[in-house]
Amino acid sequence: MKKVVIATKNRHKFGEIRQIIQPESLGIELVMGGEITDAPAETGKSFFENALIKARHYSEASDLPAIADDSGLIVNFLGQEPGLYSARYAGENATYEDNNRKLLSRLEGFPPERRIAYFICVAVLYLPDGRYFVTSGLVNGKIAAQPRGEGGFGYDPIFELPDGRTMAQLFPEEKNRISHRGRAFRRIALFLKSAIREEWI
Ligand code: IMP
Repeated sequence: MKKVVIATKNRHKFGEIRQIIQPESLGIELVMGGEITDAPAETGKSFFENALIKARHYSEASDLPAIADDSGLIVNFLGQEPGLYSARYAGENATYEDNNRKLLSRLEGFPPERRIAYFICVAVLYLPDGRYFVTSGLVNGKIAAQPRGEGGFGYDPIFELPDGRTMAQLFPEEKNRISHRGRAFRRIALFLKSAIREEWI
């Protein structure tokens, strides 16, 4: 069975990606990058650059196709924060709760129209011969006043969708249907399908 590396060591993200790509239907096996080698430094200046750095790193380390994404939350009225620094918004070893607390306090007193935000995901499929494919996806919402819901990860409990629920209140399939990552990876799955059909991998 053909193997494809998912460039992450985050089990939750790996699970979401597996559910979106449905490797059985493509006849491939997904391997978690964290089991192959350490993660590279994310020194890029954009989501795209970081996704490319990660995908190339795991592909070169394994000689297999690798898929990476870089994602984050953008709040327009905070000058695009937390943006590229979404994972370490409240500091290097910040937990999801620390980051959420910091964002809520930065937005304290902001009316709903100033709490508009979106999640963005840029995904790259990198082949061992150096070719690569890029997709992106986003989902619009706003930052809630308080965290709600037990599902998902990261900023999900404070990311409110137009129907009033937070992303953490959705079932996993619902999240994948509308999420930035779902949108970007469904298109990556199409690239994968073509690459298999054309025997590039
Ligand atoms: P990464 O670098 O792509 O792993 O994502 C950076 C950070 O963005 C994560 O640590 C989360 O804080 C945030 N993030 C990305 N995707 C999501 C999501 O689907 N829900 C909530 N937070 C997310």
